[in-house]
Amino acid sequence: MEDKGPSNDSITFLGTAGARFVVTSQFLASGGLWLNLAGTEVLIDPGPGCIVQSTKRKLKADRLRAIIVSHRHLDHSADVNIMVEAMTQGGLKRRGWLFAPADALEVEPVIFSYLKGYLEGVEVLEEGKSYRVGNISFTTPIRHIHSVETYGMVFTTAEHTFSYIADSRYFDGLCYSYGGELLIINVVRLEANHPYDHLSVPNAEHIIKELKPKIAILTHFGMTMWQAKPWQVAERLSQETGVKVVAARDGMRFELSQLDNI
Ligand SMILES: [Zn+2]
Repeated sequence: MEDKGPSNDSITFLGTAGARFVVTSQFLASGGLWLNLAGTEVLIDPGPGCIVQSTKRKLKADRLRAIIVSHRHLDHSADVNIMVEAMTQGGLKRRGWLFAPADALEVEPVIFSYLKGYLEGVEVLEEGKSYRVGNISFTTPIRHIHSVETYGMVFTTAEHTFSYIADSRYFDGLCYSYGGELLIINVVRLEANHPYDHLSVPNAEHIIKELKPKIAILTHFGMTMWQAKPWQVAERLSQETGVKVVAARDGMRFELSQLDNI
């Protein structure tokens, strides 16, 4: 009963900031993605400010069934402890799961050990594995090329499939691992001018052309992206790829039912 949510599947972008300067200055908010899929609520990548952005938007952490951390970098995990505290009502209620790569949980864990006991459990993300939470399932198809262990996800609900490409250097595996009607892609950089641990706009254009989702949403903007006005970049990518490309906005709520009319 408690997990009955609004009937529409939705994704709320708590923030759209990526990389150091945009996050530390809070030019854009940071905080991750809040999914409500078939009544199952899941939080991905609780970066700095997640507790502020989610409470401001009246999203209730004690309804979350899981928190997924794609990798241990601060802009994806800084608020994981406070969000576990909120999900479990300060430990009053043993509740929810934490999913994270091994290197976010082992030597220098992103989660305090006393909070781990508040959870129903912790699951380690590994390449090529499938996981189930409430009414949804997801896979972590391929390990990314990033300075720490990192995975994106492919989510499947009764009605929809969508992918989230977290931080990565470009490699061809991204183009065959993240199918689905919707693609959410972290695009930190405007130019692909030197090898770097993050995706750029030319990388995103190539990936979108290969994967051909119905809609692609750009997010996790670094400074060069922000200065280029992400909505204008998205407009140009729409024309060049033939796919509807949208730039996420802080607080944007995307209803997955929009995919049904395309
Ligand atoms: Zn990162």
